[in-house]
Amino acid sequence: MNDAPSLRFDDLNLDPRILAALGPAGYVVPSPIQALAIPPILDGRDVEALARTGTGKTAAFVLPVMHRLLSQAPGPDARPGRVRALILSPTRELANQTAGTARTCVRHCGLTVTVAIGGVPKDRQARALATGTDILVATPGRLLDHLTDGTLNLDETTCLVLDEADQMLDLGFVEDVRAIAARLPVRHQTLMFSATMSPAISALARQLLHKPVRIAPPDAPATLPRIRQQVIFVPTARKAATLVALLRRAPDDRTIIFTRTRQGADTLARALGKAGVTATALHGDHGQARREQTLGAFRRGTLRALVATDVMARGIDVDDVALVVNFDIPEQPETYVHRIGRTARAGRRGTALSLCDPSERLLLRDIEKQTRARIAVIESP
Ligand code: AMP
Repeated sequence: MNDAPSLRFDDLNLDPRILAALGPAGYVVPSPIQALAIPPILDGRDVEALARTGTGKTAAFVLPVMHRLLSQAPGPDARPGRVRALILSPTRELANQTAGTARTCVRHCGLTVTVAIGGVPKDRQARALATGTDILVATPGRLLDHLTDGTLNLDETTCLVLDEADQMLDLGFVEDVRAIAARLPVRHQTLMFSATMSPAISALARQLLHKPVRIAPPDAPATLPRIRQQVIFVPTARKAATLVALLRRAPDDRTIIFTRTRQGADTLARALGKAGVTATALHGDHGQARREQTLGAFRRGTLRALVATDVMARGIDVDDVALVVNFDIPEQPETYVHRIGRTARAGRRGTALSLCDPSERLLLRDIEKQTRARIAVIESP
């Protein structure tokens, strides 16, 4: 079982200034490629990763590269034209897109991002490069032009990222890439991301990477874990009836409902049963055998809903949970993140729905603030 998607960004030891940018960008939990690639990159290892567009691969290298730049001293001899991290993209469009992601992520930490691509006047780029840049996103041809012109130098570049390396080869940039890599200091980190692996890619990796960590998300999901977050404002007394109405609307959705107390879980499971929803409580009062039996039934689909307490959340490793319901608003934002991470696993989509009594509004506000989540208010069914 790949447990990576249930990790939180907070678990990855990223600089708080980076974390602060993620919530507003809609990043709630790391995607599988992010969970796998970020730790070795933070450790300074070379990485060879298999990852397609749409998997979150850009942030998988941008975030740890930023972290390393923030933790390195800027150096007293910052010279004009110096570049601290270089990201090579095969196309102008990708370079702009990657720079966009990087700019979103550097919002709170003051690192600079510059783009050098063909089709744009060189002198304007040269001026932008003159003061030095932390992260440069470039296409190989234009980068070589600037190196030749002396408008930039890679003497202080500690990290090289080859994005979409397979495209880079297809477009005939292999010699350019080698020439660029040769201009970096001997000791530098190289990260290579590619949507496909081929003998040519492996050969390039052997030339440019030093003892790389190889990463391929096990089931290489095509899409990111996407969690739609919603809230319904409803008095506690009406929560059970509201939930039943909701569950009836989408009878096939495998659902986990979280309650704060064991007693609350038992009461709700009984109420759901009476309303015709197959539901069982899962909590610490039950022995191991019973818990496994309940989880087995949930996995097989004979049980439609689990009503669980928070201590049980980590043990629920079921992939296709469509809906997570916060029957009570959790008191800790971390608990909220753990709960909603039970859905949208293995690259699937999912919904996290909170039922919020007026007395719980402050808790919800705290969650929104701390996770910087966007929780949409929807009407009671
Ligand atoms: P990429 O695979 O890098 O092209 O990313 C695809 C899209 O997913 C981009 O729009 C990113 O902003 C977005 N994205 C990346 N990581 C996450 C994440 N952990 N959660 C939600 N969205 C993300």
